[in-house]
Amino acid sequence: MAHAVFQSSSLACSSSMDLSNNSAKTSSIFGSQLRSPEIEQTRLRFLDSFKRNITVRLKALMESPGLAQDTIENKPKFTRVSNEESDHFKELKHRFLGFKKDKYLSNLEHYQSLAEAQVPKFMVIACADSRVCPSSILGFQPGEAFVVRNVANLVPPHENGPTETNAALEFAVNSLEVENLLVVGHSCCGGIKALMSLQDEVNSSSFIKSWVVVGKPAKVKTKAAASDLNFDQQCRHCEKESINRSLLNLLTYPWIEERVIRGKLSIHGGYYDFTDCTFEKWTLDYKGSTMLSDSTCSIKNREFWT
Ligand SMILES: [Zn+2]
Repeated sequence: MAHAVFQSSSLACSSSMDLSNNSAKTSSIFGSQLRSPEIEQTRLRFLDSFKRNITVRLKALMESPGLAQDTIENKPKFTRVSNEESDHFKELKHRFLGFKKDKYLSNLEHYQSLAEAQVPKFMVIACADSRVCPSSILGFQPGEAFVVRNVANLVPPHENGPTETNAALEFAVNSLEVENLLVVGHSCCGGIKALMSLQDEVNSSSFIKSWVVVGKPAKVKTKAAASDLNFDQQCRHCEKESINRSLLNLLTYPWIEERVIRGKLSIHGGYYDFTDCTFEKWTLDYKGSTMLSDSTCSIKNREFWT
């Protein structure tokens, strides 16, 4: 339903997800849980040889940028690409090679350890909107944040069943054991506007409407609290209200609430206003929120970055 997009760190590869934390997971990649000692030796030799080769190759590339260019130039070329598309990808290629030269090869050891495992401290749920990339506005580097993006940065409650968003949450919380969940909303959110414009239609054929309806409790609260404001102002109100609803929805997952109670996990909200480039950050006060009977989010440590 929601369009989840894993960013560089998370996309880093499904193999990174599989290889990240234990050898039991590694075994599934090789297709068999039962291995003879000979097969195990062969496998280890293969892994050693693979690691040595990739290190030698990367070091050679680092010492000889021309070689990197040759390697890329020798890859199969695709023809019949329109000029405009070709220009877009020329730019992406230029940026990728810049990243490789200035970051990857300059910090080879760091990126090679990231290839072995990821240990991000943050899981970020952000809107799919192209203007609110968390890595750009908050400076997350590869390996620092496990990110899922969907329309209007919504977290559905546990009772709604599986979505890409809670699948990502499950992996981040239970396998990666991130310490912080951060829901980032933003100004002029088209998804929230769609939510606020929603009529009481049942069984809509629109995927967008079927998804944003997750935020309906925030819309109801906004209508009650800000009915005297105009539509755009109500949307601004709902953009923040829906973040708080998502923070409470996070607590409906037993494995999240359990880690919050044990002090292993914190839940935060963030609001990026790109009309004046400000960022508001706050933290869910678990005890306060659970003591309130009207599903209100109690918050603490509010900061305003200007
Ligand atoms: Zn949005």
